[in-house]
Amino acid sequence: MTEKGLLLVTGGSRGIGAAVAKRAAKKGWTVALTYRSNRQEAEALVASIRDEGGRASCHQCDVGDEASILRLFEAIDGLDQPLRGLVNNAGIVDQASPLAAMTTERMRRVFDVNILGAFIVAREAIRRMARSDGTAGGAIVNVSSIAAKLGGAGTYVDYAASKGAIDTLTVGLGLELAGQGVRVNAVRPGIIDTDIHADAGDPQRVDRVGSSLPMQRAGEPEEVADAILYLLSDEASYVTGALLDVSGGR
Ligand code: NDP
Repeated sequence: MTEKGLLLVTGGSRGIGAAVAKRAAKKGWTVALTYRSNRQEAEALVASIRDEGGRASCHQCDVGDEASILRLFEAIDGLDQPLRGLVNNAGIVDQASPLAAMTTERMRRVFDVNILGAFIVAREAIRRMARSDGTAGGAIVNVSSIAAKLGGAGTYVDYAASKGAIDTLTVGLGLELAGQGVRVNAVRPGIIDTDIHADAGDPQRVDRVGSSLPMQRAGEPEEVADAILYLLSDEASYVTGALLDVSGGR
């Protein structure tokens, strides 16, 4: 197993982020994963990765709070290993609602976490990865959503718009860093079987939407993780600024 360097996975305690952390550790990454509140789950995941011979640590971080992000990067610096990968995965969606009924507070929180948080995390990562001569570097994968192109009409236009901004960040940053040895890409998952739907008050959403799709099922977190691992890997060495739909044909 080749040592690949340090990979930061935000929102790595559950769902897609946890699947990325597990698979990345198997591929030789040293994984630093973050959780917001589920410390026990994060610690259990780290323990299971270590039991299987992998390297991992977990760190508390609310990506909706800049001070918390800066503390996270202090901890990352303390790991004394060069940061070579980032999966900008932490994200939230609120309950289904038409825009007319959304509070400003809800919209601000969604934007703070999904966009501003992703921007600040990316900025701090780039400061540690980018080299003007392109010798070192790394790879960033942003976790967007197919909602960015569908729009979230009547349910979560706030979330969809925040993911649209993630797509634009991906394209712009991909070009900005193309000469500095850092690739930036995004995956756009469709409906994936994780807690995010129950947390948003709609646990039936996975089956309801999944059965209506061309592939007639929801995706598994591991299926998104595999696409993310590809974009992080050397097999994707000529891929940057790309948006990869992982959506069962949605
Ligand atoms: P989950 O709800 O299963 O997991 C969310 C993760 O993010 C957890 O680790 C959680 O930590 C962490 N998190 C939540 N809020 C914050 C915050 N403010 N700061 C830091 N970390 C936070 O979500 P998914 O795995 O489903 O989603 C991961 C990403 O995939 C999100 O960006 C989401 O928008 C995107 N996505 C998901 C789809 C799906 O159908 N599941 C479809 C399209 C995109 P803790 O455990 O401590 O709460």
